Amino acid sequence: MIDQQEHPVAIALHELERLSLEDALATRGHQRFHARQIFRWLYRRGVDDVAAMTDLSRDLRDTLAREFAVSTPQLVVRERSTDGTEKFLLRLADGRQVESVFIPDTPAQTFCISTQVGCAMACAFCLTGKMGLVRNLSAGEIVGQVRVLAGALDLRDKAFNIVLMGMGEPLHNYDETMKALRILADAHGFGLPPRRVTLSTVGLLPALERLAQEPIMPNLAVSLHAPTDAQRGELVPLNRKYGVADIIAACRKFPVKKRSRITFEYVLLAGVNDTPEDAVRLARLLAGLKSKVNVIPLNAAPGIPFTRPSDETIDRFAATLAERGVLVSVRKSRGRDIRAACGQLIVEGQNRSAGQKLAIAMS
Ligand code: SF4
Repeated sequence: MIDQQEHPVAIALHELERLSLEDALATRGHQRFHARQIFRWLYRRGVDDVAAMTDLSRDLRDTLAREFAVSTPQLVVRERSTDGTEKFLLRLADGRQVESVFIPDTPAQTFCISTQVGCAMACAFCLTGKMGLVRNLSAGEIVGQVRVLAGALDLRDKAFNIVLMGMGEPLHNYDETMKALRILADAHGFGLPPRRVTLSTVGLLPALERLAQEPIMPNLAVSLHAPTDAQRGELVPLNRKYGVADIIAACRKFPVKKRSRITFEYVLLAGVNDTPEDAVRLARLLAGLKSKVNVIPLNAAPGIPFTRPSDETIDRFAATLAERGVLVSVRKSRGRDIRAACGQLIVEGQNRSAGQKLAIAMS
């Protein structure tokens, strides 16, 4: 592997969409179709050393080695939960670290991927929110997490899903996130269809409206968490700018595909948003919308000033929704013994004043 930092003028191969790579090759006198071969090596075969791309001519490999560089996140720690969930701590080229999670059999294999280091959204129940935004991830770093997990889990040739629910708000890093989805969808790379991708947002309305126009359209999950502005404003500061009614109105206009639904995520917090009355208000809000509600009982963690409701309260909340015709699921917590469950990812031991101490929780 060529370290990008050692070649500051090199073109970052892993950041290029295939058409851009074709252009870059063509301007250097090489055939455009070689971009397809390079995509196959990098994404399907997991080879990031251009010298090992043996079906390319020596001349092309020399050009790649001289003028291009590939950076792959380095696996620092891999932990496995008793339930099969795995947590990966990855180091990026600048030394910052992110965590990605593999969730097996849900029913497909799922990678939970980060889009930012830290997050600017400051949700009250989320450790990442307390840390602020350190920086956006590039498209290549977002895809890089998939490259590492697919390789480590031997899933490059198998079907897997991606949820953009790791650290960060994907729509706050719009351009790089969408570019990553285009790279992932490329038929000569992973060939990951958008229906296998779920983008989770806290409700950045201008970006959500932009997303509605995209040719590559992932499934949409909206982190709602409360049925009223008064409640949601306490949990999600962004709600003061884009309120519940505006978000629901935008969702009603969102082009939901056939047989698909918008998922509304609802972190259930004891004594905050967990009463049957809250469930009734939520059901009214979603009436007539192609939707489902994913109830996520809080995974309590140090630093989060909320507690998990009792099992009885959780069941009553879900039952109240179901009785009113809402499709509802209660998220089973995965990987709690390795702190890989939703809201529990924390990258520890880094110096935050250097912009690197991160506490990660799920969107
Ligand atoms: S819940 Fe998601 S959007 Fe909110 S602060 Fe955490 S990472 Fe950001």
